Amino acid sequence: MNEEIKLKLINEVTSELKNILKIPEGLSISECNATSYVGRCYIKENKIAISRFIKTDQDYKDVLAHELIHFMCPNHGKDFKEYCRKINSLGLGYNVRTNARQISNIDEIRDIRKEKGSNRKSYIVWCVKCGWCEIYKQKNHKLRNYRCPKCFGKLRQKQYIKGKTEIYRVLN
Ligand SMILES: [Zn+2]
Ligand SMILES: [Zn+2]
Repeated sequence: MNEEIKLKLINEVTSELKNILKIPEGLSISECNATSYVGRCYIKENKIAISRFIKTDQDYKDVLAHELIHFMCPNHGKDFKEYCRKINSLGLGYNVRTNARQISNIDEIRDIRKEKGSNRKSYIVWCVKCGWCEIYKQKNHKLRNYRCPKCFGKLRQKQYIKGKTEIYRVLN
């Protein structure tokens, strides 16, 4: 979705919903790479981030409307649902929901997420003394503060690639 279209959609949403929602002053709307959510509202910063993987204009408007509601209702409770109902009954094509399940390409977004997850770096930490090892999703930047839980030996770590990184000894 290009910038011009996005700007047009943002203007549509803010003018169509200005009588229902309080649009915060200085609101900024950015695009993010998220696949675990389609939109996120940063209430204190007056900021909304919308996933670049959203494809249709209506989905974009629905997600933006959802995030705008959050400036009034931080959670998805009764009040939130009432705002959804009001917006959806305007007859302007909105289908604002409390979750992302109804986004038209949500399956595609979930597939991208899975792929991202499988490409994520892992790290193996191992004990130079006894061979104990463990695989972690994140690098431990304070490894020197830790010792082997089995023998108190010194630990090392390196990037771990499934099927490629050799594991010398695995103890259970
Ligand atoms: Zn929400
Ligand atoms: Zn050890």
